[in-house]
Amino acid sequence: METGLNDLPWSAGPYSIKRHGVQITNCNSEPVQTPGCIQSHGVLVAFRLVDLEIQQVSENVGRLLGIEADDLLGKPLTAVLGDAGARRLQAFLGSEPTERNPLYCQTQALGTANTAFHLIVHSNDSGGLLEFEPSAADGSEPDFYSLVKKSIVRLQGATSVQEFCQFACDEVRQLTGLDRVMAYFFHEDGSGEVIAEARREDLHAWLGLHYPAHDIPQPAREIFKRIWIRPLPDAAGALSEMVPLANPDTGRGLDMTYCGLRGASVMYTEYLRNMGVGASLTLSMRHAGRLWGLIAGHHVTATPFPWQVRAACELLAQTVSMQLAYVEEREHERYRARMQAAHLTALARVARNGELSRLTQPSPTLLDGIQCGGAAVYQQDEWSTVGDVPGSSDLAELTAWLRPLLSSSTADSQSLYATDRLSEVYPAAAGYAEVASGLLAISMSRTARQLIVWFRPAVAQTVAWAGNPSEAPTVTGPHGPRLTPRASFALWQESVAARSLAWSTAEREAALYLRTLVMDLVVSRAEELGALNSELASSNEELDAFAYVASHDLKEPLRGIHRHAALLKKDIQAGRALDAQALERLEAVTRLTVRMDGLLDALLQFSRVGRLELQPQMEDLNAVLVESIEMLGTQPADARCSIRVPRPLPTVLGDRVRIREIFTNLISNGIKYNDKAERWVEIGYIEPHETTSLLLASDTPTVRNQTIYYVRDNGIGIAVKHRAQVFGIFKRLHTREAFGGGSGAGLTIARRLVERHGGLLWLTSALGEGSTFFFTLAASEAGG
Ligand code: ADP
Repeated sequence: METGLNDLPWSAGPYSIKRHGVQITNCNSEPVQTPGCIQSHGVLVAFRLVDLEIQQVSENVGRLLGIEADDLLGKPLTAVLGDAGARRLQAFLGSEPTERNPLYCQTQALGTANTAFHLIVHSNDSGGLLEFEPSAADGSEPDFYSLVKKSIVRLQGATSVQEFCQFACDEVRQLTGLDRVMAYFFHEDGSGEVIAEARREDLHAWLGLHYPAHDIPQPAREIFKRIWIRPLPDAAGALSEMVPLANPDTGRGLDMTYCGLRGASVMYTEYLRNMGVGASLTLSMRHAGRLWGLIAGHHVTATPFPWQVRAACELLAQTVSMQLAYVEEREHERYRARMQAAHLTALARVARNGELSRLTQPSPTLLDGIQCGGAAVYQQDEWSTVGDVPGSSDLAELTAWLRPLLSSSTADSQSLYATDRLSEVYPAAAGYAEVASGLLAISMSRTARQLIVWFRPAVAQTVAWAGNPSEAPTVTGPHGPRLTPRASFALWQESVAARSLAWSTAEREAALYLRTLVMDLVVSRAEELGALNSELASSNEELDAFAYVASHDLKEPLRGIHRHAALLKKDIQAGRALDAQALERLEAVTRLTVRMDGLLDALLQFSRVGRLELQPQMEDLNAVLVESIEMLGTQPADARCSIRVPRPLPTVLGDRVRIREIFTNLISNGIKYNDKAERWVEIGYIEPHETTSLLLASDTPTVRNQTIYYVRDNGIGIAVKHRAQVFGIFKRLHTREAFGGGSGAGLTIARRLVERHGGLLWLTSALGEGSTFFFTLAASEAGG
């Protein structure tokens, strides 16, 4: 129950632990910054900064310094420090940044028994604060500078957050000689966990201990965002109240945030006593303005923390906080990389057949990515699962609840759903909290027909109390038996009974990224299938047309063979001797089979063009052209033809062998279908910006930003009506033997090869004057 501010027992005047501490019922209302009391082993003197007038002193001043409060209040600091001491302090305050930054002055011999004291001074909004602490008599102090330096070097070698915290605990323990040093980490919900521990061997382990958020009250957390260390050398020690309790200038209690002597809350000292702890030293671990955790040191007996030890610990706490961000980020990076690697490998399997279920087997599966107990993939009304997941009927019901949550939008934020307490939003899940208290789900479509879900067990399920199970609360103080680690752990267990570890930002991002990858995959597979379909459809059409033509053309020589064979047979049956005519028939059969062989070869070659994989590279067309011409072989003397290349050809991205074939085909046609006395074939190109009369013909297709290559001849030309036909398979415009014969497949194949490069092949011609075949070797740019 919250206490209203006006009902506070100390509403009439400043708070004092001594007077009001035990009445505290709600730790969140305790004014820990202005406790009104200090730990009695030292003396606190508050003074006005302008004139160094003493305004408040702790009530034990007479006992420790030998001067009573009444003799000090309203007096200058010289009354307690002497002239020289006060002058030194003044110089100190003028030259050092003492604001909220305790500074350790030199040891000063004071008091009745000539005790030596360390002086620690700092200032805040209300004035100066001077702390007197008895110093060790022998003056032999270890070299803390070297120790801290060594600690810092060791911390730098940590490879994980856990190891880093372990090193930090080891080093603090080494510096302080404390019996137990633990690193507490605060989870997002404020609850804590002991993630590292260094302890005396005979003490039982507290590693793995969890405790609820309210175990460390809000005011304490706030103060730890400002101070680096909190010493409590004697948890059972007496308290000394400030005299007067209210500061005469402000009328309020003295702000002791940065005082080493600041008195501790009764709740805290009781808690320590219940644990059998005589002294404590706490260091704060901060990260980006947040209290990341604490390093808590305990000693079974009371033990002093000399200022050198505290200074060393302060430095260590600051270093730890500075490095923590880096170590944590590195660990997150590694986790991110691990999640992504697992997702990508599993996804590569999905890519093969589009089956999302391949994310669940074989290894690596979804279990190797985002940390979870189990995962499931929903596709085509079916679940495939890996690890610990709810039973199939539970999954089916869960799907019905989950899908509407994810089906409203395709926006990223709405295609992901995450909870670490499923049964609170979906009560049916209470039945299987041990496997699915946490749920992270992504949907791949607006209708949520494809889902990927990760499940996490209840966290209490995964955490065991690391201490001695039979250990019972030892002491029952005024606040009951609750203030013990075991009771805390039990409380914590209760509070997280049906809760999982929270899903981190990195994990949500990894899930969303997986979603993007899956969606890309689905889309690209759909596109692939679409393209494949239309390719199939067009190749079917082509095949039909082709089969018709091919069978027709192949039948022609077959019919000839049949006719000649039949006649021969007749001659033989008639008992006719095999005369010259019979021989002619046999020759015709041979010729026809050779022709058929040629047709079949051409057919095979043509069908291969459709399947072959191009191997495009940057090729110098001049070299390709030389090879093509070589392949044409020596020309017969009566068909000499000059090959012209007006200017060197460019370099182009293409498949060398195929481009050579295109050239060979076009050039050989240019030579072949030529009846001129002076034959020539010209090979050239036209750049996108160039204009030429060659291209003016009306049948020039639209080609944007492409280099156009051409092969031109002064041959017989092709009539307009035949221009489309010449590209048909086995199509010849002449009798079989005319112009050196041919299968009629050359241009068909050449056009195919050009098209495989993404280009076009077309021609213009003037009958009797010559033809020009044009082609491009890449897809034409859209628009323009
Ligand atoms: P082939 O040369 O084996 O007959 P092609 O497919 O290369 O087969 O050519 C088909 C037909 O187109 C040829 O038979 C010919 O009639 C005509 N042709 C091809 N190139 C030319 C050309 N440069 N000039 C005139 N006619 C040509």
